[in-house]
Amino acid sequence: MSSVTIALRECHRLRVHLRNLKAEIDRGPRVLQDHQDELETARQDHNVHYEAITKLKLKQREDEGTLKQTETRLAKLEEQLTSISVQKEYTAKQHEIEMARTKKGESEDAILATIMELEEKTGAIPAVEQTWAQAQADFTQFQVEAAERLEGMKSDQGACTEDLARHEATLLLDVKAPYDSIVKAKGPDAFAATKARVCQACRTSMTESQFIALRNGTFRTCATCGRMQYPVE
Ligand SMILES: [Zn+2]
Repeated sequence: MSSVTIALRECHRLRVHLRNLKAEIDRGPRVLQDHQDELETARQDHNVHYEAITKLKLKQREDEGTLKQTETRLAKLEEQLTSISVQKEYTAKQHEIEMARTKKGESEDAILATIMELEEKTGAIPAVEQTWAQAQADFTQFQVEAAERLEGMKSDQGACTEDLARHEATLLLDVKAPYDSIVKAKGPDAFAATKARVCQACRTSMTESQFIALRNGTFRTCATCGRMQYPVE
């Protein structure tokens, strides 16, 4: 294989790889933001659970206060009932007592429902804590892995940049000039593998003699897409 073929093939591979590395490095902050958002959602879910418990406890206290008031009132009404001799007043008082009893029952039901809900929420605390701990552990793991990956990519970037320079240095001056201007215009898409006379970038064919020349190390660009061609089996 001619040196220009090797150089173009390697420059193509390295430039594409460097572009991919850069894209992934550039995506890093956005990926980090996604993970931070996930962690924040988990933090909120965790808080919401405890806020719900606090609210329920407050509701329970309020309902208990209401119940106490109703019970005091009921006792008072029942006491008043014993001293009433007028039938009409007696019936009215009885009605008031009935109303107070209904209210008492409602308060008791509300307290019971709140207690049950509190028990359920309290019982779920271990699971809620586990979910929150897992979310934090996942985030920490992501940070460690992302840092390692970034370090790896940066070192890969450095090595590939050196490799690229090394291969570009092998290009002779008459190739290096067009190489530079095509790379400047097309970046990693400045190259095209050519297989069985067909440009793999734009599918245009070349003549057999052109392909033979290409395989012998003649520098050429695709007549259609303008990419620098190199032969592959
Ligand atoms: Zn082409």
